[in-house]
Amino acid sequence: MKRYSAFAIAREARRHHVGWERAWRSPAPKSEYDVVIVGAGGHGLATAYYLAKNHGVTNVAVIEKGWLGGGNTGRNTTIIRSNYLQDESAAIYEKARGLYETLSQDLNYNIMFSPRGVMMLAQTEHELRGFKRTAHANAIQGVKTEMLTPQQVKKKVPIMEINGPRFPVLGALWQARGGTARHDAVAWGYARAASDMGVDIIQQTEVTGIDQQAGVVTGVQTSRGAIRCKKLAIVVAGNSGLLADMAGFRLPIESVSLQAMVTEPIKPCLDVVVMANTVHGYMSQSDKGELVIGGGADGYNNYTQRGSFHHIEETVRALIETFPIISRLKMLRQWGGVVDMTGDRSPIIGKTPLGGCFINCGWGTGGFKSIPGSGWAMAETVAKGTPSALAAPFGLDRFREGRFIDESVAAGVAH
Ligand SMILES: Cc1cc2nc3c(=O)[nH]c(=O)nc-3n(C[C@H](O)[C@H](O)[C@H](O)COP(=O)(O)OP(=O)(O)OC[C@H]3O[C@@H](n4cnc5c(N)ncnc54)[C@H](O)[C@@H]3O)c2cc1C
Repeated sequence: MKRYSAFAIAREARRHHVGWERAWRSPAPKSEYDVVIVGAGGHGLATAYYLAKNHGVTNVAVIEKGWLGGGNTGRNTTIIRSNYLQDESAAIYEKARGLYETLSQDLNYNIMFSPRGVMMLAQTEHELRGFKRTAHANAIQGVKTEMLTPQQVKKKVPIMEINGPRFPVLGALWQARGGTARHDAVAWGYARAASDMGVDIIQQTEVTGIDQQAGVVTGVQTSRGAIRCKKLAIVVAGNSGLLADMAGFRLPIESVSLQAMVTEPIKPCLDVVVMANTVHGYMSQSDKGELVIGGGADGYNNYTQRGSFHHIEETVRALIETFPIISRLKMLRQWGGVVDMTGDRSPIIGKTPLGGCFINCGWGTGGFKSIPGSGWAMAETVAKGTPSALAAPFGLDRFREGRFIDESVAAGVAH
């Protein structure tokens, strides 16, 4: 694969761009692979990439029923942060954030990582106490965060109304090296690099069944025929319950729709990410000038990939009190994804009751930020057959053993 570089751009500009290669191959599926990964979202593709790069496992297929990155990875609001409460979470999210710092160079693909800073507003006394606790926890974990006063918040975000009548800003938890990245580019970058190392990415192919013998996985049935495999990794976010059903086990997962929207583009007015969890809305400004807005998940289980109408109103209404300037903006687009929520709002990574079958799911409303760390940990788990140190606390058995990793403060509402 030819590398992308300033020199390559100059060369192609001089010859009418006839020399660019396809970013990834589109091979026909082989009859057998060492590892089959179901789902070409960020987590599945990152798993494939690190399997090849870190462990030399390249006889791998990633099977995707739609197009790669077309699930939640291409639908999210791209917030990246690692200011979680529990040590286990901080470890994997900080690993991911650290990998994001150099991911463009690692993948030779510009993922547009923008560490512009993430601000989580405290708008009740309870929330203020909760964030102070998280800031102390982060200090012990080695995750760099700090508390801001209302005046410091106002200085960073002049368009914010900090003295709102119902929800005044009492402070904020600030992570300076949090931010955003271009979501499609993360999927495309991993796909291109994995494909270059020999991974087959097979799109428009749905997994419809999971074959097993004596409690061990032997392959998958797909809309393009059977494919045998020695190991299987299920990485399908909101569809995890359906795949688990095919494999013959149950997951403590609920699937709900989560939506986001963008306004018409306006001049630059917001250069950090702001999350307002009490009023249930968050916002950043895209490079095109649109305000990217998200809110809460649907209050009932569904697979609609759309989001319910009243949530649009609730989210916008919530943000207008804190950002009065948005009240006269037009909304351009709205869309939804199906997110996979666990009871403790932490992911599941590891073995399943079916031999040779591994699962990575439960990232819920906040799994974009974790893609590099999750792929890293999942690849090690699949390659070695036992959970990696990063993944071990997130095993499925924690629900049986009552060993929850409660992230409802950090992740229950926001992203
Ligand atoms: C509106 C919204 C906003 C969000 N905002 C943020 C945010 O700001 N920050 C953050 O960190 N996270 C955010 N998230 C969450 C984040 O998007 C997800 O946690 C993450 O993208 C999950 O990635 P994934 O690779 O596990 O799943 P996906 O990207 O959904 O990929 C799973 C893939 O599996 C495929 N698949 C499913 N079933 C089958 C089958 N039977 N056969 C073959 N393929 C199959 C699907 O087509 C899909 O492409 C948001 C999510 C949404 C919906």
